[in-house]
Amino acid sequence: MLQRPVVSESPAKHLASEAGELPVHFFAPSALEARLRSFKAHFPGVVTYAVKANPADHVISQLWAGGLDGFDVASPDEISLIQRLCPGAAMHYNNPVRSRAEIKFGIEAGVVSWSVDDMGELEKLISCGVPQASEVAVRFKLPVAGGAYNFGAKFGATEDEATALLRRVAEAGFRPAMTFHVGTQCKEPQAFASYIAAAARIAKEAGVTVGRLNVGGGFPAGRDGQPVDLLPFFTAIDKATEAFETRPILVCEPGRGMVADSFAYAVQVKSVRAGRVYLNDGVYGGLAEFPSMVISLHTVVGHMGEARSATRQPMTVFGPTCDSIDQLPGTLELPVDLSEGDWILFRSMGAYLTGMTTRFNGYGDWHTVTVQSLWP
Ligand SMILES: *Cc1c(COP(=O)(O)O)cnc(C)c1O
Repeated sequence: MLQRPVVSESPAKHLASEAGELPVHFFAPSALEARLRSFKAHFPGVVTYAVKANPADHVISQLWAGGLDGFDVASPDEISLIQRLCPGAAMHYNNPVRSRAEIKFGIEAGVVSWSVDDMGELEKLISCGVPQASEVAVRFKLPVAGGAYNFGAKFGATEDEATALLRRVAEAGFRPAMTFHVGTQCKEPQAFASYIAAAARIAKEAGVTVGRLNVGGGFPAGRDGQPVDLLPFFTAIDKATEAFETRPILVCEPGRGMVADSFAYAVQVKSVRAGRVYLNDGVYGGLAEFPSMVISLHTVVGHMGEARSATRQPMTVFGPTCDSIDQLPGTLELPVDLSEGDWILFRSMGAYLTGMTTRFNGYGDWHTVTVQSLWP
């Protein structure tokens, strides 16, 4: 396994002796290793990883060295990243909207699976010469809630469209497959089961035998500080797949559920005023997901390890830029004696941080520190 040198025992230990300047992204390779092992041991099928969730070299390399089966890539840049770090890895190009230049790039890179949610996009794949040995997975959507926000708003064919697409995929000589995405941070195993039941209906209606069913991502991170037990998800998925006349091979492509709990993110207090806090990072940087996700779990480490009161009060929190929308939604419960130089440590911050940060107003840089454990 590829290991970066361990530079600290835990985030709390590191921050207690750190005067700081930049935010710190703490990475525990042991936690990522455990999460991958759990997916591989218990998911009833092929385990891949959605690169966009965290494309850091050390994450991709560790997953590959740990025996991951392949990657969900969404752009030529992500394809190049996988070719560089994991030569020979299976690539599933599951962004259903691609330019012709992007399709050609994917063909040359040896992409083995493509998703489609629209007849025009499928005809594009055919006319660009995607090889017939390739798998083409029809992506469909349902009006099912369960994720933190609605993924069906952007991609996915309706059941009727999916039926027609699946027939056309088979007719064109590709290996027919199906896929969906229940929505990120999905807490409901039943959402996966509803989608799988629909996939079986669509395949039956189309009269097509589906070789593989890719159940997508959406597996939740542990927002209460501990990884979520994914066994109920895997069991629901396995059981629902019995609805197919011929059982397809299952594939999953977690992003958040694979990496989020292996990281924590620490930002520092620059200034405290009555009811207001100014941090050294905000929504243009590592806290980019705050406006769209509920991220509340945090601990406070006092400046140079000083103790802080257990009594907390709600405070309005601002980022470092001069833009007034650089503010966290709602309020955070913070110690009444919160002071300049204190650190706020957010848990489960491994997904949708790397690659999402901007350098707006000259901010957005951070350190990565490897830790033996993310706790205490
Ligand atoms: C983003 C994405 C994923 C990963 O989603 P998570 O909610 O992070 O697990 C998986 N598949 C596709 C097609 C995606 O776009």
